[in-house]
Amino acid sequence: MNAPLLHTPPPPTGYDVDRVREDFPILRTRVHGHPLVYLDNAATTQKPQSVIDALVRYYTEENANVHRGVYQLSALATERYEEAREAVRAYLHAQTPNEIVFLRGATEAINLVANSFGKAFVRAGDEIVLTEIEHHSNIVPWQMLCARTGARLRIIPVDEAGEIDLKQAAEMIGPKTRMVAFSHVSNALGTILPVAELTSLAHAQGAAVLIDGAQAASHLAVDVRRLACDFYVCSGHKMYGPTGIGVLYAREQWLEDLPPWQGGGDMIETVHFDKTTYASAPAKFEAGTPNIAGACGLTAALRYLQTLGLSRIAHHEHDLLEYATARMHELKGVRIIGQSTRKAAVLSFVVEGVHPHDVGTLLDQDGIAVRAGHHCAMPTIEHFQVPATVRASFGLYNTREEVNRFIEALARVREMFLT
Ligand code: PLP
Repeated sequence: MNAPLLHTPPPPTGYDVDRVREDFPILRTRVHGHPLVYLDNAATTQKPQSVIDALVRYYTEENANVHRGVYQLSALATERYEEAREAVRAYLHAQTPNEIVFLRGATEAINLVANSFGKAFVRAGDEIVLTEIEHHSNIVPWQMLCARTGARLRIIPVDEAGEIDLKQAAEMIGPKTRMVAFSHVSNALGTILPVAELTSLAHAQGAAVLIDGAQAASHLAVDVRRLACDFYVCSGHKMYGPTGIGVLYAREQWLEDLPPWQGGGDMIETVHFDKTTYASAPAKFEAGTPNIAGACGLTAALRYLQTLGLSRIAHHEHDLLEYATARMHELKGVRIIGQSTRKAAVLSFVVEGVHPHDVGTLLDQDGIAVRAGHHCAMPTIEHFQVPATVRASFGLYNTREEVNRFIEALARVREMFLT
């Protein structure tokens, strides 16, 4: 095997990845007789023991329904649930916990905004502006809104590197634009989008901004006030927390102005057959029993990320991305899809003459978990005129040794199909 390229920077100092790995029991798993190399972090992340413990503790010692009970256990569960809201507020640097709504995930959060914002503010002839590299979660709810209202979608294209064409963005975002919705980081390419530029273009036209932070919130420090966005969404399971819990951040005024989108318990103030009045936000948007255990797990995940430090995590992952990119350039017949100058830890690629699904299946034989397909971003894949890509996405516990194993296995796949 070729030696690693010398120009890649050394791993960041002060970040003990071997020590970090000990926190993740699943990393001790063997797959087909090999130690697991988990490189599908963009799909979901593995969980540290502290998150697993928080879930077990909740069900062992704290389980009760929230907000309604007068007894101690219910008060405790409520305290844990609201503690999670405060933990998210601090993590995203929101102004108040009232700006944080818990939902099932980023998908549900975008659906909430498309429904509530759409109902209140979008009419026939209005425009919703997206980018060409959105996840389906940030396309389909807006399409559905357009179908309901007669509004139309406008799509900002990307160039061959996978970077947003800001000139076209400036032409597209205009007086008819009601919403500009885009990802912070593209899940299929890793492109970090020009968030500040897009946000100021939108706000200059009086349009609202929704940032899909599903791929950003565990890799970059997020400050929603500095981003100046109206809405920011993310998913707990992509942040080393549990599945089934996600977050909508919305500026407080929006949550006051938007109508509720689901009805039921907890979101009301009074209910009579002739008239119902709603609770104030965020309860107004949380109908029914929430994912209390998920919220406890999310608190633990955010504490874990904050203890490691987002800038150190970002540095570590960037090192892995640069190292893997350089090593991948050593392989003939492997083409990286998405080469933005500002990228998060996602490496999408195709191998000449081998279908991406075959690459994924063969890598699995070596214990290496990557994703192959359209990554729920079909328009992105279509742009690059490939049937699918293989995607390796790095997390805070991955190592250069794992990158080496991945590259060596990939070289074997390539050789297999050459002969
Ligand atoms: N947005 C982006 C950019 C994503 O990568 C994903 C998931 O892969 C989502 C939204 C949807 O997240 P979830 O399935 O957790 O709702």
